[in-house]
Amino acid sequence: MREAFSEFKQKTCIEFREEDWVPWYHWKRWESESPYVIIRKSKRVNLLAESKLDEKLNRTLMYMSENSLNQPSDSLSRGIALHELGHILGLTHEHQRPDAIKYITVAASSELSHDTAIISHEHASEDELVWPFDPMSVTIYTPTENAKYHFSLTPLCSDVKQSEIGKGKIEGRLTYWDAVKINSLYCPDQVAFDANRRAPPCQGSKKAKFLDVPRSVRRGNSMSRGRTKN
Ligand SMILES: [Zn+2]
Repeated sequence: MREAFSEFKQKTCIEFREEDWVPWYHWKRWESESPYVIIRKSKRVNLLAESKLDEKLNRTLMYMSENSLNQPSDSLSRGIALHELGHILGLTHEHQRPDAIKYITVAASSELSHDTAIISHEHASEDELVWPFDPMSVTIYTPTENAKYHFSLTPLCSDVKQSEIGKGKIEGRLTYWDAVKINSLYCPDQVAFDANRRAPPCQGSKKAKFLDVPRSVRRGNSMSRGRTKN
């Protein structure tokens, strides 16, 4: 989890800050100006539970399953944590964007090929949708976690290799576009200087690269990070 926090800190304007756990009746848990998320281990599921109290207090509980935290590769465990934290920040599944069906489908050979629910639409914010479809995103389901999520790329997405679907999650790194989407939601002035809204979708690793631009050449200044979300 800490490596995932650090990935956000390095590549976006978001900084997660760890707080000591306090019981529900502690005043810190009731400050309306301080959103927080409680992260807990679960035996079985990765899940977010959001609740609103008195129309103003937003509380989020995030569960990480023991299985996700103990994947054979630490990179994938970190990638799953990035996926869930991405949801906390408002990212939706890339494969459920309204335009995703043009680029990605459930693999035809699978007995679950009729399971269109996997790629059914999910509400994505306009801020996310102005950026191109990114099949490498940490928000995509990968077959490494569950064979059910075996996607194929359509000819419109031929610049990307099949093995690169969900590469960000598998390698435990936010992709270039993941970072662009998060920054455009929270700190538009810090979106990578070379990010182009009209860039074609499904660019290969050349353009949909992992963000490795030195901080000094990014738009904005690392000293003026956006508001911390904890
Ligand atoms: Zn998800």
